[in-house]
Parts: sequence; C-alpha cells; structure tokens
Amino acid sequence: MRDIGIIGLGAMGLACANAARAAGASVIGFEQFSLGHSSGSSHGETRMIRRIYSEGAAFMPLLDRSFDLWAKLESASGEPLMQTTGGLDIGPTDSAFMREARASAGQSGHRHVAMDAATANDVWPALQLPDNFSVLHAPESAVLQSDMANAVMARLAIADGAELHDECPVVSVETTGDHFLIQTATDTHAVRRVINAAGPWGSRFSTEMDAALTIERQVACYFDGPPDEVPPFQRVLEDGRRIYTQPAADPGRWKLGLYGHRGQTGPEYRNTSEVDDEDRRILTDCVKAVLPDCPPPDRFEICRFTNTNDAHFIIDRAPEKPGMVNVAACSGHGYKFAPAVGEAAVALALDLPPLVDLTPFTLARQTKL
Ligand SMILES: Cc1cc2nc3c(=O)[nH]c(=O)nc-3n(C[C@H](O)[C@H](O)[C@H](O)COP(=O)(O)OP(=O)(O)OC[C@H]3O[C@@H](n4cnc5c(N)ncnc54)[C@H](O)[C@@H]3O)c2cc1C
Repeated sequence: MRDIGIIGLGAMGLACANAARAAGASVIGFEQFSLGHSSGSSHGETRMIRRIYSEGAAFMPLLDRSFDLWAKLESASGEPLMQTTGGLDIGPTDSAFMREARASAGQSGHRHVAMDAATANDVWPALQLPDNFSVLHAPESAVLQSDMANAVMARLAIADGAELHDECPVVSVETTGDHFLIQTATDTHAVRRVINAAGPWGSRFSTEMDAALTIERQVACYFDGPPDEVPPFQRVLEDGRRIYTQPAADPGRWKLGLYGHRGQTGPEYRNTSEVDDEDRRILTDCVKAVLPDCPPPDRFEICRFTNTNDAHFIIDRAPEKPGMVNVAACSGHGYKFAPAVGEAAVALALDLPPLVDLTPFTLARQTKL
C-alpha cells in the first residue's frame, strides 16, 4: 500500500509527487490525460512569479518558500526554469490595486521602486501611460518556463521513485476507514492518504468544494513584444479590468491575458472550447491598449482558471473524507506557488506541521464567503 495517492498531475499534483518523495513517502499519481496536456490550467509555455504581491501579504510566506524551492528544482534538474525579468504593477495611482501593491511592497521587505507615469514612460517608452497612472517595479520578479518545469517535476519525481500513471482517469475514491481505494478504469489502488489535485475537476472528489470553486474560461494570446526591455507587467485598465503579460518561451515573443476575460464561468468550461472572433477582438484591443506600438496577436490559446470566492487558495483537509487533502491553488495566480503548495499539502497528508501558516487557505473560509 502506498502512503499517498494523488489525483491529477498538473502543476500542483506534480509538485505534491516531488514533495512526497522528499518527505520519504511512497507515492502513486494519476492523470486523466497525457502528462503536459493542454486541457487543464498548467500549460502555455510560461508563468510569472512576482516578488511583490498585490493579492496580499497572506501569500508572502508561501511565495518566499516558492522562490527557494524553484531555485532548488533548477539546480536539481540543471534546467533554466526561472529567469529574473523584473515585473511591474501598473494602474491608476489611487486605485485599490495600486494601494494594495504599495502596501504589500512596503510589508514585503523586498526591493521595489515606485514611479509616476512620466518617469515610467521615460524608462519604458513602449508603455505610454496616462498621467494619473503609476508603476511599482519589482526587480526580482521572474518568469518560469512552466512547460519545461512541469516536465522536470515529472522526471524528478519518477527518478526519485514516484509511480505516475497518465491517460489513467480516476473514477472514484472510497474510504475504508483507515485507508482509501482509488478506482481507475482497470485497477483498484490502496493508499493511506489521498491528495485531490484535480484542479477544475476538484469538486468531483470533494463535493464540499462545489460551493467554493468556479471554472472560468480563459484565452491567452501571443504576439511580438516591445523592442525595448520592458519588464512583464500586470495592469489595471481605465475601465478597471486587469490584464497580465509575460514573456513567452521564444525570445521577443510575449503573452497576454485578461482576468475575467468574457465572464464565462461554469462546469462546462472544464472542457476545451474554440477560440472565436470575439476572443480575438477583445485580446487584440487589450494589446493595443497597453502596448500600442506592438503588432496584433497572431496566436490564441484556451485555458481555464479554477477560481475560489476570494482568490485565496484551498490547501486543506476534506471535511467529509478525513485523510484526504484538497488542493485548489489557482484563481489565475497559483502556478508560482506550486512547489510550496505541494510541500504544504504533503505535510497535511502525513500529519506533519506545515512550514507555512495555512489558515488563509482553508475551505471553511471559502464556504463562509
Ligand atoms: C492563461 C493562464 C495564465 C496563468 N498565468 C499565471 C502566472 O503567470 N503565474 C501564476 O502563478 N499562475 C498563473 N496561472 C494559474 C496557474 O497556471 C494555475 O494556478 C495552476 O496551473 C493550477 O494547477 P493545478 O495543478 O491546480 O491545475 P491543472 O493543471 O488543471 O491540474 C489538474 C489536473 O487534474 C487532472 N484530473 C482531473 N480529474 C482527473 C481524474 N478524474 N483522474 C485523473 N486526473 C484528473 C486534470 O487532467 C489536470 O491535469 C495562469 C493560468 C492560466 C490559465
């Protein structure tokens, strides 16, 4: 019997597999699609890891731990997983977003530079910001080669003794009181503890999460980026919508998306959909709004967010199944935390004290909202 069974091998499941091996636990993991597939939330070449966190100070311990663990994964694999690019938070100076970013920067103790629009436009002419905007520059923010990192996490976990099965959907999880039976189409696997890292499908295995999770259809676009060294940025537009940008894998190429995109939410968006003219129009307008001199996007990609009610993650025991740990760390900003989330989830599964305070990440918090 394995110590831990993991449902789902996206970024969080793969990080849990590595953390379980690092804790000396035997582990088996299941993925319904092929490893590295593009039907979940962890594909798409790159992800940002920001040093200053406008989502709030509650995330900082998990973020600090993540920077350390990504560096460890990089040296363990010898692969260039993380490149320091710097990062910008941009918005109307008196907006809640910029106030939160400034407050979080002040509390973080990490290097940052606050700039008014005129100064930022001098340094990065491609931004062309209106006078009432300001910028917070975090020089230590970085880009993660996420497709490469997912492959590395799988490779290292297997090399370290994890048993990972892809194209092997979990059909059901039954508890027998002191252990679990994970049922796939062909086999039954007995495990002592279960980690539910099924992302957009998470509430299938822990119905308590139904009220806490919303699946959002996302589309990202790719385009030839600005000539000068503009750091990747997230920016609040005049109408309050927020876009995110990051370098893509190929030099000079950029990626952009819009939080909330078309407000399309529901379980039906677990499944892949077609990019349509409306998606292209919205994202083309976004590129024009934030990088007016860049050419329009020439590639579009479907993805999905698994949103909680307040964008805080769920890293918590399943109330209805003691011995199962739920991991729903997305809301469009979870990837950067994967190694630390994996470590924390495994600690919960093995009844060990987590290294970071998980009280901001309980299920109860979400169901109360
Ligand atoms: C376009 C886009 C841009 C983003 N940018 C950033 C960023 O810059 N920085 C950042 O930090 N975060 C970012 N994110 C968020 C981040 O990518 C997600 O938080 C993260 O990938 C979530 O990982 P996950 O493992 O929970 O989900 P997933 O990758 O969806 O993994 C869940 C897995 O469970 C599997 N599964 C489900 N049901 C079963 C079953 N029955 N049996 C077996 N397997 C099953 C699924 O197939 C899937 O592979 C972005 C997300 C998107 C979509």
